[in-house]
Amino acid sequence: MGNRILLSLAHMGGNERKYIDEAFKDSWVVPLGPNVDEFERRLCKYTGASNVVALSAGTAAIHLGLLMLGVSEGDEVICQSFTFAASANPIKYLGARPVYVDSESKSWNIDPVALEEAIIERKKLTGKYPKAIVAVHLYGMPAMMEEVMAVAQKYAIPVMEDAAEALGSEYDGRKCGTFGEYGALSFNGNKIITTSGGGALLCPDEQSAKRVLFYATQARENRPYYYHEHIGYNYRLSNISAGIGCGQMEVLQEHVERRRSIHGMYSDAFHGDRYITVHENPSERHNSNFWLTTITLSPDSPVSADQIRIFLAEHDIESRLLWRPMHMQPVYADCPYYGGNVAEDLFNRGLCLPSGSSLTDDEVNRVITTIKEAFGK
Ligand SMILES: *Cc1c(COP(=O)(O)O)cnc(C)c1O
Repeated sequence: MGNRILLSLAHMGGNERKYIDEAFKDSWVVPLGPNVDEFERRLCKYTGASNVVALSAGTAAIHLGLLMLGVSEGDEVICQSFTFAASANPIKYLGARPVYVDSESKSWNIDPVALEEAIIERKKLTGKYPKAIVAVHLYGMPAMMEEVMAVAQKYAIPVMEDAAEALGSEYDGRKCGTFGEYGALSFNGNKIITTSGGGALLCPDEQSAKRVLFYATQARENRPYYYHEHIGYNYRLSNISAGIGCGQMEVLQEHVERRRSIHGMYSDAFHGDRYITVHENPSERHNSNFWLTTITLSPDSPVSADQIRIFLAEHDIESRLLWRPMHMQPVYADCPYYGGNVAEDLFNRGLCLPSGSSLTDDEVNRVITTIKEAFGK
């Protein structure tokens, strides 16, 4: 048995220390400075977004994005149910109510048909349209953006894109996070790149980016004394964290390519397997970063996803069940839900495999062999 294999580990490129050392040298150990500016510049260049604001977390980015869209008390916000709780929690921070929508089975993201049903019914029941739509690119897989954006535009409801797991993913050659009014990225420890903790909000123009920055730095009005007309937040990314981010940007594309090649190894290994299906790009328009490679088991599989998870753990390999949908979470039990059982079914049959860009081919092969052993092969 070799070393423990983890799901997704932070993977340093080498220059991160250089940027941090510069920050120390110049006493930029504060939540602003040259690394923050440079990190934002590199994120703009990479994603094609016109304006980016670096923040302390992806969750903070979603929070400020929804705030910018005018979400407030008494509003309803539609959110993909099949996601991590951080996609939805900011809706509650703003005093609004999440309305959950099922996924389609191709990309596993928000189902445009159920989305439209939800919009129509919420209007009928409450007299007003939902204020925003939170669409997620889960596991890095781009959502059906043409269809989703068409529904959103038809009802003039802005989209808050949660691209926390999808940095580097593309739909029609365009980077995820740049389709909606706002797009959120995360640089938490296990994401594609890390700043040890951090996030960013992709903004439609300079004016909105300035406003995001204003809210992220305590909403202080331009006066010689502290004067407040709005409630602000302390959400800015530190210059130290941004230094890690600058170093990570130098290896980002390499890391994305490595995650894709790991996905390719799993795909080849389980191609034509009777029980295991590896989640693939559903069309030529989709180009996932494959942040995590995910598999689903056929209903007649003799081994369940959780049994595989336990078997892998016994062999020092970390795996994880898929996200449990938000409409199945006790804390959100009273929220409306639209759609069928696609997300629930995926949750029951799916598993995330180790996919970190620092994994060696030998380690990936060890995961593959161990999964086959779990089936007694
Ligand atoms: C990680 C993640 C977030 C939150 O990002 P943080 O930086 O951890 O706050 C939001 N949505 C999804 C889908 C995520 O995976």
